[in-house]
Amino acid sequence: MPLHLKFPVPSGHVTAARADVTERVRAILDDVRAHGDDAVRRYSEKFDDWSPDSFRLAPDEIRRIVSRVPDTVLDDIRFVQQQVRTFAQAQRDALGDVEIETLPGVRLGHRHVPVSGAGAYVPGGRYPLTASAHMTIVTAKVAGVPQVAACTPPIRGEIPAATVAAMHLAGADEIHLLGGVQAVAALALGTETVEPVPMLAGPGNAYVAEAKRQLFGEVGIDLFAGPTEILVIADENADPFVVAVDLLSQAEHGPDSPAVLVTTSEALGHEVARHVERLLPGMPTRDFAAPAWRDHGEIVVADGLDEAFRIADSYASEHVEVLTENPRQALEKMRDYGALFLGEGTCVSYGDKVIGTNHVLPTRGAARYTGGLWVGKYLKTVTYQEVTDTASSALLGEVCGRAARVELFEGHARSGDVRAAKYGKGTLPW
Ligand code: NAD
Repeated sequence: MPLHLKFPVPSGHVTAARADVTERVRAILDDVRAHGDDAVRRYSEKFDDWSPDSFRLAPDEIRRIVSRVPDTVLDDIRFVQQQVRTFAQAQRDALGDVEIETLPGVRLGHRHVPVSGAGAYVPGGRYPLTASAHMTIVTAKVAGVPQVAACTPPIRGEIPAATVAAMHLAGADEIHLLGGVQAVAALALGTETVEPVPMLAGPGNAYVAEAKRQLFGEVGIDLFAGPTEILVIADENADPFVVAVDLLSQAEHGPDSPAVLVTTSEALGHEVARHVERLLPGMPTRDFAAPAWRDHGEIVVADGLDEAFRIADSYASEHVEVLTENPRQALEKMRDYGALFLGEGTCVSYGDKVIGTNHVLPTRGAARYTGGLWVGKYLKTVTYQEVTDTASSALLGEVCGRAARVELFEGHARSGDVRAAKYGKGTLPW
């Protein structure tokens, strides 16, 4: 039986907040649907105090903004985008097309076809999440998406220059300075000035994630990628200071970001708790990290590593750091997570900012049914078939006639009958 050294707040509070988000998002989507650009502008003014003549940046504005970004920042953006591109390209190369012959002259195949356009949401309410531009746009371009419309909000009225530079260097075809539900709605539904896209990708706060969820079906979405989560699995050999620092590295995302420690050592659990309490007051981002730790922080003591892996799976956390003697065990023992960070040499921040695996990852249990963003999310796996052997077509026609009549589909059956008769030199039964 696991021992809880620290509990989160009761879940009733969280459920009420989620219901409120659902209703607010529904109202904004309905408004944009009915009033297009007017509604988009009203919400941008209301939430971001932002109402320029055009939300879309013209090429010369982009050039001007990029020229303000220091060279070291641009160099780092190029470095990280190259890491993301290299990994995404390897993933794309591993996705072969398929064509097999199942019967003489019967060929079945599938191809991976990129969507014709994608909206890339790059968050920016609290922090300019420059790295999300690499993750969403570079990946779309490696997948072969011809038209990528990127958007990000201004931060307290300021243009996030490094993020605009990252969008531009990543190959965005359009850049809109627009955030939140109104941005997602404009891209998905289209307005008088914004062309709609067939799919949306990218992370965001609870409003952005809920907007994508509600729009799913009208447009495709990559996945449910809401407020960040971290779970650390640590045994008695882990460094409690490193564990505490890493838990807080994700708690600072926002007050709704869970940070969970599952440890096989009660002593380590107590030490981590002490380090966290000591570190928090000195963190410049404590206004987000402190409530996140208070309301969503947990420390659980497991009875051995197998139980720790089972508990970790039950959270289906977005990020799982494995700080144990043999971290690669997690590859065999775990199933439900967005990304694994194996050993002390790496950390969630490397995944978020520099290493090259995609940081757009499933949250709130979505890791039970999906992995994170990757080239495959921008590709449609579509099938085709061809039959060039008349005897095979006649055989399939006979079976099709019988199978369709079991389902009472006379029209389907006749398509089979026609071929069975024509190629098998038989006669039509009707
Ligand atoms: P954001 O860009 O997601 O949201 C900012 C927008 O929220 C604003 O433009 C505003 O229009 C809208 N907004 C603010 N208050 C609102 C309200 N009351 N009603 C309706 N809309 C409102 O930026 P953020 O807020 O900083 O959040 C970024 C989020 O992205 C964080 O929660 C972070 O954890 C998450 N994230 C997730 C992943 C992932 O892969 N799961 C990766 C990176 C970041």
